[in-house]
Order: sequence, then C-alpha cells, then structure tokens
Amino acid sequence: MMRFVDMHCHLDLMTNGVEIARAAHAEGIGFFCTTVTPVDAIDARERFSTCANVRVGTGLHPWWIANGTCGADDASAAAELATASPYLGEVGLDAGKRGAASIDEQARAFGRIMEVVGARALPGRVISIHASRSTNRVLDILERTGAARNATCILHWFSGSTDELWRAARMGCFFSINEHMLATKRGREYARILPDDRLLLETDAPPQLGSPYRLDAIEHSLASTLEQLAQIRRAHVTTLGAQIVARSMRLLDFANADCA
Ligand SMILES: [Zn+2]
Repeated sequence: MMRFVDMHCHLDLMTNGVEIARAAHAEGIGFFCTTVTPVDAIDARERFSTCANVRVGTGLHPWWIANGTCGADDASAAAELATASPYLGEVGLDAGKRGAASIDEQARAFGRIMEVVGARALPGRVISIHASRSTNRVLDILERTGAARNATCILHWFSGSTDELWRAARMGCFFSINEHMLATKRGREYARILPDDRLLLETDAPPQLGSPYRLDAIEHSLASTLEQLAQIRRAHVTTLGAQIVARSMRLLDFANADCA
C-alpha cells in the first residue's frame, strides 16, 4: 500500500520534479501529475516515464487560455492526445477574475476535449477538473458530451455552491481536497458533507511554478489535510487515510508493486 496519493499536483512544473518523484517512490507516495498545456503533457510523460508512482494527465489549463499562451491549436492537440490518454487534467473552466473574458474560448476548448471522452470509453479514464465560478457550466459540458458517463471526473479544490456540489455528486464526481479549501469556512463545510466514497486528497503544489520544491512540504500538506478532514468528519484518521489511499490507487491503477 502507498501511504499517500496526491491526486492533483503540478510535479512537472517543479524543476526537481523527477527527483521528488523518485524520493516519493521510496516513501510510498504516488501522484496524479496534472499538466497545463498539451506540450507540457508530452514532455512530462517522457520525463516521468520511469516513475511507477506517477500518472501524467493531458492538460489544457483555463488560465493558459486566458493569458493567450494556448489557443484553438492547443485545444486540437489536447483533444488528439486525449483519444489515447487514460488520464486527463488539468482541464476545465475559470470564470473568475483571471478567466471571465475568455470563458467562451475556454468552454470551446474544454468541450472539444470532453467530446473525445464522450465519444469513446477508455477503461480507467480519470479527469482532474478545474471549475472556478463555473461548476454548472462544467457539469453541463460533462453531461452534454457524455464525458461524465465515460470517465471518473474529479473536481479539484471544489469552490462552487452547495447546489452545484450535490449536482456533481449525483453525477458521480469525486472531489480532491487540499489545505487551501479547508482554510475557508465554506470549504470545511463541504468537506464535512461530501459523500464518504468520493473523497480524495491533493496539494495543487507547487505554490511557485518553475522552481525547485520539496517532498516533505508535499507530504506535510497531505498529512495535514487528512488530519483536518478526519477531525471535520469525526472519522478515525488512520481508517480514513487508508480508505482514501485505496480509492486513489484504484483510480490511478497503481498496484502494490508500484510502491517501494
Ligand atoms: Zn492545478
């Protein structure tokens, strides 16, 4: 068994990501490495190809559309990669300050990628989704394209409304919870009411993209999120942690042989 699985981590945007992944393997920590552009996804697949404890997602982050780094060509590239990628993310929508102006372009890009998911079921497909001030629109796209039916959809760092939370839960979505979410009263309330069988942990690290980072900071964040979550839900921390790890390992198809 692994000790922790970080279900949303930008390992490839840490300059020492591969060293961290190797050290994490020895510590029994696995990762869903979410990427932000399709070019990064190809690069990260290569860099982490020898790391049995890392799954790389094909991503197209809404902020990279909002700031003009990515456009329609990248949406096509991400959709093309998605045909054969079991793991997708970070993808989604952001209608907050950073993304409001480009929300329609984001929705077209996200829609294109989700159409690929809806068109053909790939066994074990998992998607890590960014939905900021746009959860209903994200869920509409997941429904319309059939992606919700064909994949395990994880809403990362959930910040929508209570109605959106229950709609997502009814659609079968999972929720990856991090420290930032538990720092707000609303986030703690969501962490309390979410269904047991949908809970996951994440860090969304690193805080500073393109710099070195530290495994102990990742581990500390995961352990602290788990402890708080157990407290909030009045659950036994060891039991809750074991359930979340087993669920995460199943979603990312980690076998016990993948941990040291
Ligand atoms: Zn992220």
